[in-house]
Amino acid sequence: MTRVVPNDFSRREFLWAMGGLGAATAAAFGGWGVLEAMIPAATADEWHKAVCRFCGTGCTINVGLRDGKVVDIRGHEDGHNKGVICVKGSMLRSLPQIEGRLTKPQIRSNGKLKEASWDEALGLIAERFKEIRNQHGPDALAFYGSGQLYTEESYTANKLFKAGLGTNNVDGNPRLCMASAAAGYTQVYGKDEPPGAYEDLDHAECYFIMGANPYECHPPLFERVMRHKARSRRVVVICVDPRRTPTAEHSDIHLQPVPGTDLLLLNAMAQVIVEEGLTDDDFVREHIRFSDGQNTVDFAAFREFLKDYTPEKVESELGVAANEIRRVAYLFARSRATMSLWTMGINQRTQGTFLNNMLNALNLITGQFGRPGATPFSVTGQPNACGGVRDTGSLAHLLPNGRAVTNPEHRAECEKLWGVKPGTISARPGYHAVALFRAMEAGDVKGALIMCTNPGATMPSRERYMRGMEKCFTVVSEIVGDSETAKTASVLLPAALWCEKEGVFGQGERRYQLVPKLIDPPGEARSDLSMLVELAERMGYGELIKAKTPNEVWDEWRHFSAHSKYNFEGITYDRLKALPGLQWPCPTEDHPGTVRRFVPGDPFVRGDKKFDFYGNKDGRAVVFLRPYVKAPEQCTEEFPMYLTTGRVLEQWHSGTMTYRIDELKQAAGPARFHLNPADAYRLRIAEGDDIEVTSAFGTVRGKAVLDDAPREGVLFAAFYDAKLLVNNAVADWFDPTSKEPEYKVTAVSVAKVGA
Ligand code: SF4
Repeated sequence: MTRVVPNDFSRREFLWAMGGLGAATAAAFGGWGVLEAMIPAATADEWHKAVCRFCGTGCTINVGLRDGKVVDIRGHEDGHNKGVICVKGSMLRSLPQIEGRLTKPQIRSNGKLKEASWDEALGLIAERFKEIRNQHGPDALAFYGSGQLYTEESYTANKLFKAGLGTNNVDGNPRLCMASAAAGYTQVYGKDEPPGAYEDLDHAECYFIMGANPYECHPPLFERVMRHKARSRRVVVICVDPRRTPTAEHSDIHLQPVPGTDLLLLNAMAQVIVEEGLTDDDFVREHIRFSDGQNTVDFAAFREFLKDYTPEKVESELGVAANEIRRVAYLFARSRATMSLWTMGINQRTQGTFLNNMLNALNLITGQFGRPGATPFSVTGQPNACGGVRDTGSLAHLLPNGRAVTNPEHRAECEKLWGVKPGTISARPGYHAVALFRAMEAGDVKGALIMCTNPGATMPSRERYMRGMEKCFTVVSEIVGDSETAKTASVLLPAALWCEKEGVFGQGERRYQLVPKLIDPPGEARSDLSMLVELAERMGYGELIKAKTPNEVWDEWRHFSAHSKYNFEGITYDRLKALPGLQWPCPTEDHPGTVRRFVPGDPFVRGDKKFDFYGNKDGRAVVFLRPYVKAPEQCTEEFPMYLTTGRVLEQWHSGTMTYRIDELKQAAGPARFHLNPADAYRLRIAEGDDIEVTSAFGTVRGKAVLDDAPREGVLFAAFYDAKLLVNNAVADWFDPTSKEPEYKVTAVSVAKVGA
């Protein structure tokens, strides 16, 4: 297959081999040190346990220091990642020194940003925010955060805005990547967050990987799959993806559906499972409730609903043959333990919540649940989207620990725990991400604090929302001065990153881990927590935001959690310093943490129950009847192809960090449009041609790569490169339940520039 032509082919191929599947190979040929030997590092004087800054795998690492600088990174042998890290993690040592670090606050004056003191910058922000609130009400203010802030930072911002300023306009980039997973879990189990754990990767017999590319995006997890597969001939790996990704190449079965039709596949698999008697009848009878979304229905209604989704009825629209659907349905149901894994390919869809419902449903109706290796599992993208944002309730419709702003009891509980007057927390959900940037564009939100994220590059239809940010009094806390978001700032605040500050990351399997402060930030840069604490003080909320250091905030937060089924009161800083993380629930300081939820071992399971879905009043998990609806973007004569976006091995998200690290930049090269050779031939496009990609939302130009990974009719581009900015052309439709945008399906036209 043809791949991107790298600047340095052999180096990139080596990084690929070592970074994905090859981690296992690396172990066989002398371990990860093979790569480390290729990337010379200075000898460290001291080593400290920490956590990788990048993805939601949340690898435990050892950070080597010399002369106050990070000089080396190794995987931590006792971590859940068992010493394995990917190429991005191995290059963390260059992160603090990336070019363009901000060292002083800046204030825009006459269109230009000029250096200012912290006193001037924070004084101006407090004054303008107070003015806006007094003139236009609290909902004219907003906070837009990140799954990359530490938990203590998200918790404090959420508390300040919801219980202090009086607005629920608190949202963040997890809305763009995993809101559908959170909504899916909450509807099914009554509680968010995965029931299983990474440990299940070591035990499954069938892996059903859908809308995920762990070879590139979560390499240590896929390495675990491959390692287990190498030990057992019974193991089968199924990959569902419109692209033949490296994950698909290393799978036993690859289904390549038409983008946007994936619910047809899940419903058809359920139909086969039900009609062929592959359900676990005892589990269904005792632990499942069926629902059409409004009312409880019975199993017969579920069976009737599925009759519209026989493999033969869906195969043509889905683009997958009926016999293949039957085959994977059998493998899924009949294996000794099936683990389904998914991420943005499922979440970033207008039917993202429904898809999440159905992925959970397949594991439930087949009884593939609660045993080692048998679990549904949504893989997450950011290092702290789970712990920092989902758990703290730092989204516009949420309050901490799974509470909802629309629920009067939940508001009252939070008001009591936070010591504010009854009625302080607004009953109105705030603006979710897309609505928030639209409100900025409309002038309804007039002041916004954006921390640790780059919506200027990552929002779909981004040019539209750049205008919104420019119109607003936008405060941006950033590590560099030239990100797309920083360009819109009225006030730019220099932020400390990663081990320049202390805090807790909560990765994708409910595991909290501590990142210690190991080095000083550059110049006057400081932690986002210290910015929030001082802003609160200046706005008159010093009493509300009493906890001022990371440890103080963490203690307040863990005590808060004790009033919920998320209880992690037993996870103290001292324990986190000593251990490579703990998984919640973890109610006491002698509790070992919980690997699997809703089964014995989970402290909330009642009596001697084998399964207890305690998030729902009747103790049952809900299986929904979810009808397939076509994606809003359909191919037409004007826009005959689908654009889909994603990530590559060497780069992370918008590239603010990884595209400034030379080795990773060279390895990935500039982002390009990947086009199936059959489409290229039809469109008279050759490798390296400049092409123009146009949707109803915008136009982007970039170079073409001929690559048979995308199925015919599908164009792929990664979003790490600020020169390509593919999100200019991405549609901003969103899931009506989760409000997560549909990055994966945009109808586009493709033409050679100047043709
Ligand atoms: S980027 Fe993700 S997979 Fe790679 S080392 Fe960091 S946490 Fe692990």
